[in-house]
Amino acid sequence: MSAIDGLPPLRVVIAEHGLSARKSLGQNFLLDLNLTSKIARQAGDLSGCDVLEIGPGPGGLTRGLLAEGARKVLAIEKDARCLPALAEIAAAYPGRLEVVEGDALQVDPLQHLSPPIRIAANLPYNVGTELLVRWLTPRDWPPFWQSLTLMFQREVAERIVAAPGSKAYGRLALLAQWRADARIAMSLPPEAFTPAPKVSSAVVHLTALPAPRYPADPKVLEHVVARAFNQRRKMLRAALKGVAPDIEDRLLAAGIKPTDRAEQVPLEAFCALARAVAEG
Ligand code: SAM
Repeated sequence: MSAIDGLPPLRVVIAEHGLSARKSLGQNFLLDLNLTSKIARQAGDLSGCDVLEIGPGPGGLTRGLLAEGARKVLAIEKDARCLPALAEIAAAYPGRLEVVEGDALQVDPLQHLSPPIRIAANLPYNVGTELLVRWLTPRDWPPFWQSLTLMFQREVAERIVAAPGSKAYGRLALLAQWRADARIAMSLPPEAFTPAPKVSSAVVHLTALPAPRYPADPKVLEHVVARAFNQRRKMLRAALKGVAPDIEDRLLAAGIKPTDRAEQVPLEAFCALARAVAEG
């Protein structure tokens, strides 16, 4: 029995349900419930919140989120082998855990959740970045979520919180920092997972800002940033050729030297450039 919820330890759950980890599903499980409760606490006060969890697996983080008081957890899991283990957790927390079997890229969580909503997950590496970009790029802001508390490979986490001028600075940093506060909340060594991955991991916590830090049209900003970093070693006047007929003038209007490279340009200037490009 575990101290946090009286359910069996995760090693027992995994053995009983035959949940050998599958690489194709990005399965690196967290088996220490003290650790999963600590990750759940990074998500803030969960008591009045619905929480979306992607990839609950055998349920370590799910149990942490429920023990930390989440009003309801919606857990979307692709691997049907995990469902009986998750059903045992649902029985221990009546009415508070809903499990949907499916691909998180296909399921609409809003059919199942009510605000305020937080997202917390030890993400499958193969879909983690795609989900993050999706959550960061809705047309309208604020988004449906208040905060994201997400496990990533350390290298991806560093790209999310990176500052201009650093090697990790790029599209992810700009998308994340334009409309959210982003910080690394925890670092985890490979041995924290079963099986241990090759690299270290980190939990990133993002809080949605009530409004973007600087005005810009999201589609134009995403396009400009994607083009600028697609050829990050080129000068911006070359990397952005064709984005607007007179791109040099627009760069200058935004206070950016046409000979600068993308990684030198701060968020505020990218937003000014997006506005200059949108002016047509
Ligand atoms: N949350 C568990 C933990 O911390 O131990 C498992 C984390 S494991 C890194 C990722 C989980 O995501 C696995 O359970 C895997 O089956 C699931 N998964 C992989 N691809 C998925 C997808 N497209 N949609 C939903 N779940 C997915």
